[in-house]
Amino acid sequence: MEIINRRQRMSSVSRKIRREQDRTIGLVPTMGALHEGHLSLVREARRMCDVVVVSVFVNPAQFGPTEDYEHYPRDLTKDTAILTDYNVDYIFAPSSEEMYPKDFSTYVNVGGISKPLEGERRPGHFRGVATVVSILLNTVRPDFAFFGQKDAQQAVIIKRMVRDLAFDTEIVVLPTVREDSGLAISSRNLYLSADEQDSASVIHRGLTKAKEIFKKGERHAGKLEEIVRTTIESEPRVRVDYVSVVDADTLEKLDKLDERSILIAVAAYVGKTRLIDNTLLNKAKKDASVAKA
Ligand code: AMP
Repeated sequence: MEIINRRQRMSSVSRKIRREQDRTIGLVPTMGALHEGHLSLVREARRMCDVVVVSVFVNPAQFGPTEDYEHYPRDLTKDTAILTDYNVDYIFAPSSEEMYPKDFSTYVNVGGISKPLEGERRPGHFRGVATVVSILLNTVRPDFAFFGQKDAQQAVIIKRMVRDLAFDTEIVVLPTVREDSGLAISSRNLYLSADEQDSASVIHRGLTKAKEIFKKGERHAGKLEEIVRTTIESEPRVRVDYVSVVDADTLEKLDKLDERSILIAVAAYVGKTRLIDNTLLNKAKKDASVAKA
C-alpha cells in the first residue's frame, strides 16, 4: 500500500493503472476517522474493483464557519493501519494546500437539490462537497466511486453532478451501517458520551416507526413526520432540527405518498452534536443493515 499526498502523483499512478494495466479502479472518498460505515464501502470496492483507492481528506470547503472543522477527529496513522488490513492499494491523503492551491477559484454548484434539508441548514456545504468530489474524481478517474446512504442528500447530489457534468465514473451507494442499538455509525458519534449514544438511538426508532405505519397503509407525509418527531422528542437529550418526507430522487417535499421512492430525512441535536439519519420507503433493499465484520 502506498500513501500519496500529491495530486500529480495520484493522477499519474491512476493513469498507469488504467492505460498500461487495464485494471479497474474503485475510489472511496472519506474524511478519515474510519469506522464500520466507511469499511463497508471499502469492502465493496475491494470486491468490485482491481485497485482500491481510499481518500482521506477533511475538506475545509464543506464546513461552515461555526462548524467543527478544527475539532473534527483526525488519525491518519490509525486509518492507515485499518486500511492495510483491508488490502487497500492506495491512500490519497492530500493537504488542504494541495487540494486548494492559493489562487483556487472554481467551485461546483449542483442547483435545486442542494437547497433543501442539509443545504438549508448548512449553506455552502454541498458546494464544498461537490467541488472536492469533482477534484477527487478528476484526479483518480475511478471506474466506480462508493458513497453511503447515511448521507442521502449527498449521494443524490453526487449522482446528479456525475450525470450532468459527464464524469466517467459510476456512483455506487451502499446501505447505512448501524450500531446494534440502531444508531447510524458516524465519525461524529465520537463526540457523544455512552449515555448520549444510547439516547441518540431514538432517531432510528423514530424512523422505524414511520416505516411501520407506512407499511400499514399511512400515506400522509405529515403523519410520518409527526411520528418521527414525537418519538425522538420523547428522549429529552435529543432535539429535532428537522424531519422531512421528500421524493428520494428530486428531494421535493411530499404531502400524499404514492409508489415513488420516498426519503424520510432527519437531523437532530444530541447536546451540541448534530446527527443526521434517514430511511427509504418503497425501496426496501437500500436501507437494510449491513452486518458488522
Ligand atoms: P465521511 O468520512 O463522513 O465524509 O464519510 C465518507 C463516506 O462514508 C460517505 O460516503 C458517507 O456517506 C459514508 N458513511 C459514513 N457513515 C456511514 C454509515 N454509517 N454507513 C454507510 N456509509 C457511511
